Amino acid sequence: MSFFGLKGFLTSDIAMDLGTANTLVYVKGQGIILREPSVVAIRKDDNKVMAIGREAREMLGKTHGQIEVIRPMRHGVIDDDEVAEIMIRSFLRRVVKNRLIRPRAIVCVPSGVTKSEKRIIRDAAEHAGCREVHLIAEPMAAALGVGLPVQEAVGSMVIDIGGGTTEIAIISLSGIVNDTSIRVGGDEMDDTIVQFMRRNYNLLIGDRMAEEIKQKVGSAVPLEQELSMIAKGRDLVAGIPKAIEINSVEIREAIAEPVGQIVDAVKLALERTPPMLSADIRDRGIILTGGGALLRGLDQRLRDETSLPINLAEDPLTCVVRGTGVVLDHLEKHEAVLLKS
Ligand code: ADP
Ligand code: MG
Repeated sequence: MSFFGLKGFLTSDIAMDLGTANTLVYVKGQGIILREPSVVAIRKDDNKVMAIGREAREMLGKTHGQIEVIRPMRHGVIDDDEVAEIMIRSFLRRVVKNRLIRPRAIVCVPSGVTKSEKRIIRDAAEHAGCREVHLIAEPMAAALGVGLPVQEAVGSMVIDIGGGTTEIAIISLSGIVNDTSIRVGGDEMDDTIVQFMRRNYNLLIGDRMAEEIKQKVGSAVPLEQELSMIAKGRDLVAGIPKAIEINSVEIREAIAEPVGQIVDAVKLALERTPPMLSADIRDRGIILTGGGALLRGLDQRLRDETSLPINLAEDPLTCVVRGTGVVLDHLEKHEAVLLKS
């Protein structure tokens, strides 16, 4: 091993985006080396962990009664302490290869986490072998990930739409000036699609199918060319598998409520913005990050409703972990953005 390779090996500090839908880990000098759904499958009778991450997600909606598939971060906070800890430890162990060298870790968490939840996250990271654990709030990491000048005395607005939450933050001088967080994100859209299919077609579909429908034909504004696809599920009356053609017009209607809630939260955040910073945001626009930002036409919808420049970040699913990585790589420079315990 060359000297530099050895050095990289010794200082494998890590940055982790602990999201409600996905967990990503960046290792210093190596890039993003883990990208897994935040999901754990547990056998009910003896609480044995059957799978964590992608493999557990495959089981969603397909398990028999004996296995429970849990998303411990689902609502933007820790839903299930014990399972959350198991998941965090498992992901960290996959990347912390050498137990003798204890890495530093920066974990990005939804800004709504409580003091005791911060404790759980820290403990889990320490148990997994990390020596020094710092936390950072999601919108701050997202802002750094898209390269916004967070340290300067200008206001920047970031909207991060994840699975369980939407966080809207105005950042200036390394701090979050204003933070509006709602527990509505991509999951809520999936839920409304499940309800819509049941109500309108007597078709029971799983969460995975609902997410696929959202991604393939979901939208927030009328489309020049409306789309359609086949939805598969179980007929609630006959109890047999059934396939139905659905189109983007009806799915837009189905998800209208959560999409509207996100739009309203953005408007509210803008109203709450101090006038000096409003001017900056008017000039510089708003950045959209998180997987939910990929919903077709959501950027256009926000542009129409706010009359502000709205920019979809490049690779919105990795902004947060990349921003956390920026802090890790320049810890001294960015110390101010870390959360106090
Ligand atoms: P979190 O930070 O909460 O883990 P992510 O930023 O990873 O969330 O985003 C996950 C959400 O993004 C999920 O609800 C997923 O369905 C949604 N998503 C991913 N790709 C798309 C897409 N192309 N269109 C709409 N939603 C998407
Ligand atoms: Mg996120």
